This record gives sequence, structure tokens and C-alpha cells, in this order.
Amino acid sequence: MMLKLGVFELTDCGGCALNILFLYEKLFDLLEFYEIKEFHMASSFKEHDTLDIAIVTGSVSTQRDLDLLHYARNHSNYLIALGTCATHGDVQASVEGKIRDKLEKVYGTKANPMKALDSTPIVQHVAVDYAMPGCPYDKDEIYQVLMNLAKGIEPPTKDYPLCVECKLNEYECVLVKRGIPCLGPITLGGCNAICVKSQLGCIGCRGPIPKEANPASEFEILKELGYDEEYLRRKFKTFARGELRW
Ligand code: SF4
Ligand code: SF4
Repeated sequence: MMLKLGVFELTDCGGCALNILFLYEKLFDLLEFYEIKEFHMASSFKEHDTLDIAIVTGSVSTQRDLDLLHYARNHSNYLIALGTCATHGDVQASVEGKIRDKLEKVYGTKANPMKALDSTPIVQHVAVDYAMPGCPYDKDEIYQVLMNLAKGIEPPTKDYPLCVECKLNEYECVLVKRGIPCLGPITLGGCNAICVKSQLGCIGCRGPIPKEANPASEFEILKELGYDEEYLRRKFKTFARGELRW
């Protein structure tokens, strides 16, 4: 029996929904198991139905987002929060201060044309069955998760730091050897350390390792390397809002 799938986009850059389409020919493998009932980026076709799986990308940043999120949750049996906007709020949630105050500066006290809200991750509003961070995530990850679910297998979750993937790949440590402010030690692995592979520091786009991250220690190490505290504070909160405290 075909599973019914819907993809819902809240406020985001569109990258996470687009990444599903970037599966190209692998999409046809998925279509052996899934009937797509809604996927705005791919088609204007939409059929209101109860879904087996809803994929939600983006953060809750407007009233429309919140309504759509509740619709997706109430009409699905299994909900996947896809991408760091959905799991952690991402860049738009790291904005400091109230969105209402910022809108007032531009539009005056009465107008809020988008019915904007302070950006928050979807995990803060509804129960989520599977969370996959990444800005964007590795597209093969969502492929594997959907394939597992199609076969009735609960997909495994990752719970180790990015540094593990550097070691497994034998990448040179850019933090220790080159003093680059890499957030790998406190960031959830799963991207196969793709930035470090290119000799760049991890900027933490998959968010902190749940419960395990030790930002205080990372902060001290980077401070000793000469990085400015304000720079580090902003760097730490880019993707993870207020989650990293030290
Ligand atoms: S997680 Fe990143 S790539 Fe995905 S929608 Fe948000 S900003 Fe775009
Ligand atoms: S190395 Fe870090 S910043 Fe780069 S994709 Fe992985 S988690 Fe994101």
C-alpha cells in the first residue's frame, strides 16, 4: 500500500524543500512507496487527506506558519522536522529583541502585515516524531529516513559530535592545528564533516549535541586562541538561539 506524504514549508529559505527535489533519480525510488499529496515547491497539486508522513521545513515566524504547522500535525501520523529552521529556529530565530518592536520601527504601531511572530522552531509548538537538523541537511539522510519508514523501520537518530566524523575520515583538525574557530566539538554530527573536509571550521549548522555539548569549554579554548567574546557569543547562537549556555 502506498504511503501518503505531504511536505509543508514554513518561513525559511526554501533550501530544505529544494534539497528533496535534488534527490533527482532517487526521488523515483521514493515514489515506489509514496503518494505525494502536497509539496508546494514541486507542484500546485494539493489534496486534503490524512497523511502517513508530514515533512515540515522552516520555523514558525508568522501566524500562517503556526496554522499550517497545526494542520500538518493534526492531519498526519508521523511528523518530521526537517532542517535546522524546523529543529532549532536557525538564523531567523537568533535575531535579538522582539520582532514586534522591529516592525513598529518600519510600519508604525498598527501594522503587522505578515502577522509576524518571534521566530521559533517547530519542535517548540508540536510533538515531532523525527528531527533532522542541517542547513541544509544531507539529502541522502532524508532519503534513508523515508526508505526506512516505508519499510516499517524506525529510522536511527544521530547523537555524536561532528569531531567523530573528522576522526573517522582522518581529516586534519582545523581547530587544534590551525586555530580556526571550529564548532565541531559541540555540534551534532551527521553531515560527514563536509566543511572540515574543505579545510573550513564548522559553524554549527546542525545545532548542538543534545544534552552533551560543553559550550563553556569550547568558549574558553577559543578565547585562549584570541577570539573576541562578542564574536564568539554571536557565533554560538547563530543556529541554536539560546540553547548554548556557558
Ligand atoms: S535549514 Fe537552512 S537550508 Fe534549510 S530552509 Fe532553513 S535556512 Fe534554508
Ligand atoms: S561541518 Fe558544521 S557547518 Fe558544515 S555542514 Fe556540518 S554541521 Fe554544518
